[in-house]
Amino acid sequence: MQQECIEMKIIDVITGEKPSLSFEVFPPKTEDKYENVVAAAEKIATLHPDYMSVTYGAGGGTSEYTADIAQRLSRMGVNSMAHLTCVSSTKERVREELAGLRDRGIQNILALRGDIPPNFDPSAMDYHFAYELAEEIRDFGGFCIGGACYPETHPESESGIKDLEYLKIKAECGCEFFTTQMFFDNNILYNFLYRMLRSGVDVPVVAGIMPVTNKKQIERIMGISGTALPQRFVRIVDRYGDKPEAMKQAGIAYATEQIIDLYANGINAVHVYSMNNYDVAKRIQENLSEIIR
Ligand code: FAD
Repeated sequence: MQQECIEMKIIDVITGEKPSLSFEVFPPKTEDKYENVVAAAEKIATLHPDYMSVTYGAGGGTSEYTADIAQRLSRMGVNSMAHLTCVSSTKERVREELAGLRDRGIQNILALRGDIPPNFDPSAMDYHFAYELAEEIRDFGGFCIGGACYPETHPESESGIKDLEYLKIKAECGCEFFTTQMFFDNNILYNFLYRMLRSGVDVPVVAGIMPVTNKKQIERIMGISGTALPQRFVRIVDRYGDKPEAMKQAGIAYATEQIIDLYANGINAVHVYSMNNYDVAKRIQENLSEIIR
């Protein structure tokens, strides 16, 4: 049964007068962790961010969780966005997912390809690129659709120019806004926005910021090819990487400073990869309380 819809479309949230601050959560891979993740997501929702997004396991294993968590957030009065990926999604399954999200009252979807798992045969996919999924969602109707973009160029892309050509196609196929991959040097984003506009891609961009608060995260980021770590950031990690509380404090301060610079330069929408961590989300929001008022 269709539920009463209280959600705003993300495009209206991020193009409003007020700077927006939003948080991302991810569902668990296994059922035993589900209640803990729900509790963490709901705790973050008590901060009443402008919206929250819920990621999607590219293998599809957590798709039910994504929709369920997004609906719970929405019931708490927080605009929510469900991620959806092409990897291992048949057309039939996508239509089922879309009908399910609509019935739960979800208004916003981030359309993604997903990372292709090793030994996965991409020829078996019904959708090969995110633009095809965005097109399907647009044809289904009723959703505000976002997509991903890469200020440092997607690692599989043959060139930055090609990546932007494909980004343009994604916008033409229904993506109304893009959320960036994490970056640690704002100049990289400013340069990207300039190149984006020059390429004729004129849709709002939400800056994705990752507060790095522990060593494990740093190792993961190093594994994401193409993410430049500025010397200023590397020095912080060198000095505090082995001191968990100090690293957390420094990581939150670094992310806060990045966000203030973004807002000051007219980037009005920031999405924090809060990694289900209430404390990090809360401290960042507190640090910005007067700025996002
Ligand atoms: P696409 O836009 O399809 O691009 C993928 C590659 O194909 C790029 O190199 C692009 O240049 C190229 N390409 C695009 N169109 C064409 C074309 N027409 N012809 C030839 N080449 C083309 N992953 C998850 O599994 N779950 C999530 O919830 C999730 N959330 C994310 C959120 C954000 C904000 C970001 C930045 C990433 C997220 N990811 C997630 C990771 C993402 O799925 C991967 O980075 C993936 O490798 C690319 O996804 P995409 O949607 O950008 O793909």
